[in-house]
Amino acid sequence: MRLLTLLTIAELTLGGAGLVASVVLMGSTSRLARLASGITTAVDSVYTAEQAERALLLHNRESALYLITKRQEHLHLRDQARRDLESALKELSNFSESQRERHALEKAVTNAEAYLRERDQLEAEGNSADAIFTATASSLDGTQGWLETLVQINYEQAQNLQKQAKSTDALGDLVGASASAAVMLILAGVFFLLHRGLKRPLIHLIREVETLETGKLSTITVAGPAELQEVATVLNHLIDRLRQQRESQLRFLAGIAHDLRTPLNAIKLSVQYMATGEVDEDQRSTLLAVDRQVLQLDRQVGDLLDTTRVEAGHLELKVSEQNLTELVESSVKIFSGVSPRHPIRLSAPDCPVLCDCDPLRIGQVMNNLLSNAIKYSPSGGEIRVTVSLHESTACVGITDQGIGIAAEDLTGIFEPFRRTASTREAIPGVGLGLSVAKRIIEAHGGTIRVTSTRGVGSTFTLQLPRKVSQDA
Ligand code: ADP
Repeated sequence: MRLLTLLTIAELTLGGAGLVASVVLMGSTSRLARLASGITTAVDSVYTAEQAERALLLHNRESALYLITKRQEHLHLRDQARRDLESALKELSNFSESQRERHALEKAVTNAEAYLRERDQLEAEGNSADAIFTATASSLDGTQGWLETLVQINYEQAQNLQKQAKSTDALGDLVGASASAAVMLILAGVFFLLHRGLKRPLIHLIREVETLETGKLSTITVAGPAELQEVATVLNHLIDRLRQQRESQLRFLAGIAHDLRTPLNAIKLSVQYMATGEVDEDQRSTLLAVDRQVLQLDRQVGDLLDTTRVEAGHLELKVSEQNLTELVESSVKIFSGVSPRHPIRLSAPDCPVLCDCDPLRIGQVMNNLLSNAIKYSPSGGEIRVTVSLHESTACVGITDQGIGIAAEDLTGIFEPFRRTASTREAIPGVGLGLSVAKRIIEAHGGTIRVTSTRGVGSTFTLQLPRKVSQDA
C-alpha cells in the first residue's frame, strides 16, 4: 500500500470520527440547554402558582378580618393581596405552554374572577363575614384546586425534563468516550501499520544503502510501502549502471595491462642483460634504479590484471604446504635495502609456521603491503614485520610509521580504486593493491585488517588458517 494512501485514510477516518462526535456533542449540548430552560420555566410556574395561592388565601383572610374589625390595615393588606393574585395569574399565562397547563390556568382565572366578583357583591350588600365565607367557598376552593393542579403539572414536567436531561447527559458521555476510544484505536492502528510497514523496511533500506559506502555494489531489497519500493528501484538502476561502468573500466584496464606486459618484459630483460655486461658503478646503480622502477610498474600491471581476474571470478590458487615465515622472509629480503631510510625489522617464531597456501600469491600480498609501507612513509621510519602463531591461525603484521589513514577513509580501503584524499594527488598509485590482497587472503580462508592513525602510521594484519604439523 502507498504510504500516502494510508495516511490519507487515517486522516479521513480521524476527521470523520471527530466530525460525528462533535455533531452529536453539539446536538446534546443544545438539547441540554433547551431542557434546562424548560426546567427553569416549570420551576418558575410552580413558584408563581404557589404565590397566587398564598395571595388568594391572604385576600380571603384579610377581607374577613376587615369586616369584623373595620381596621384600615386589613383593608390595605387585602388590596395588596388582590393585586398580587392578579399579577401572579397574569404572569402564569406567560409560562403556560401545554394544553393541560392552559386549561388549568383558564379554570383558575375563571374561579378567581368569580370569587372576587362574588365577594365584592356580597360585601356591597352588607353581608356578614360568615355568610360571605360560606357563599364564596366554592369559587375559592375551585381557584385553589386549579392552582394546585397547575403546580402538579409543572412539578411533573420539571421531573420529566430532569430525566431527559440525565439521559442526554449520559448519551453525551457515551459519545465522548466512544469517540476518544475510536481516535485512540485509529491512532494505534496507524502507528502499528507505520511501524510494521515503514519503520522496518526503512531501517533495512538504510543499512543496505550504507553497505554501498564500502564499495560493495549489491542489489537493494525492494520491500515496504510503494514509495520505498520506488526509491529502492531507482537505487538498483543506479547500482546496475555503476556495475556496468566498473566492468567496462576493468575491461579497458585489462586491455591496457595486457598490452603493457610485453614491452615491460622486454625492458626488464634488456636491463638485466646490460647489467651483466661491462658497466661502471654509476651505470650499474642507474640500471638498478631502472630495474626497481620496472619491478614496481610490473607489480601495478600485475594488480590490474589480477583485479580483472578477481572480478571475473578467475582467481586460481596453487596451494601447497608452506612455511609462512620463509615466504615473509623472502619478501622482506626483496625490500630490504630498497630504501635506506626504511629499515625493515622482522620477528618470527623459531618453529616453522605452516600454512596451506599459494606461495606466489602470498608473496604478492606481502610485496604489496611492504611496498605500500615504504611508499606511504615518505619521511622514512622503521617497518616492523611480525609473524605470530595462534591457536588456529597464523598472523603477519606489517607496521609502518608513515602518513597513516584517516578514520573516514578506513571503510572501503580494500575496495578497488579506493585511494585516500591525502595520497591521491601526491603519491602515484592506482588503488588496486589492497583489493587484490584482500581477495587473495579471503580465497585462502583468511582475513586482512588495518588499524591506522593519521600522521602516526598503519598496521596491516593478515590472518591465515594455520596448519598444525603432523610431527608436533
Ligand atoms: P595504491 O597504493 O596503488 O594506491 P593500494 O590498493 O595498495 O593502491 O592502496 C589503496 C590506498 O590505501 C592507497 O592509495 C593509500 O591511500 C592507502 N594506503 C595503503 N597502504 C597504506 C599505508 N601503509 N599507509 C597509508 N596509506 C596506505
